Amino acid sequence: MKFADLHLHTQFSDGTFTPEELAERAYKLGFGTIALTDHDTVEGCARTAIACAAAGMDFIPGSELTAEHEDTEVHILGYFLDTENPTLLARLAKFQAVRQNRIHEMVAALNKLGIPLKAESVFALANCKSPGRPHVARTLVKEKLIGNLDEAFEKYLKKGRPAWVPKTKMSALEAVELIHQSGGLAVIAHPGLNRTDDIIPDLVDAGMDGIECFHTKHSTVMSERYLEIAEKYELLVTGGSDCHGFSKKAPLIGTVKLPHEHIEKLYAAKKAADAKRAARK
Ligand code: AMP
Ligand code: FE
Ligand code: FE
Ligand code: ZN
Repeated sequence: MKFADLHLHTQFSDGTFTPEELAERAYKLGFGTIALTDHDTVEGCARTAIACAAAGMDFIPGSELTAEHEDTEVHILGYFLDTENPTLLARLAKFQAVRQNRIHEMVAALNKLGIPLKAESVFALANCKSPGRPHVARTLVKEKLIGNLDEAFEKYLKKGRPAWVPKTKMSALEAVELIHQSGGLAVIAHPGLNRTDDIIPDLVDAGMDGIECFHTKHSTVMSERYLEIAEKYELLVTGGSDCHGFSKKAPLIGTVKLPHEHIEKLYAAKKAADAKRAARK
């Protein structure tokens, strides 16, 4: 029976794999389906789709949108996105610009602390439109300005640390709406990691389609709890490793294997949503 990993990052955001490397690893691990969910971008989807097709795997184009609801940060996964949808691309471009400005602000904060990091070095290493804190951390390590990535987050980049800069986020309600108007299904990412339990009812009211029950950072108890929540609110069940390649020690791909029954339900939900949209036209 084939299984899926529906939460993966590439070099198009803060992962270290190219789309081709990611697809090759997924294939070798026996995956039948993968989804690409780079932060606030769909740029890597075209290449990943080609690589997956060549390997005989199913591919779901997606993205992980950074959003907020009532001061809680929540990551929202969009699946089956139309990666050429102009409204989607325009909104993503805005939040990519926010991310780029934030790099300048983080570098300025580090400079104030006496750390001679240049924004250009971070952009050169990131080489993508959707840069983030991991790129700052990796550049600090590369330039021997800090010992390792963990230290970079602990000392400077974690929330509350001196080079932490808040990020302007879209509202969770807009994220759901944006995903739907791009033909996608919206899924709450790693609820156990962001501690978003209190806002789940609001997100369900906003039209959330699913919840990521299986995630590398979810314990078995957590996964079971979110499976119960999924049943209660009639949400789709998804799961993925949140692999960032070598950005975080060993690659996580292969640690989460979403069973086939959930993949089938996801495809069925996409079909039903498309039929509903077509009927409305
Ligand atoms: P950003 O989107 O710029 O706020 O960065 C968030 C990303 O940083 C997450 O998606 C993770 O990939 C990574 N990250 C967050 N906290 C840590 C940490 N303590 N150590 C390593 N990576 C982290
Ligand atoms: Fe990330
Ligand atoms: Fe996330
Ligand atoms: Zn992620």
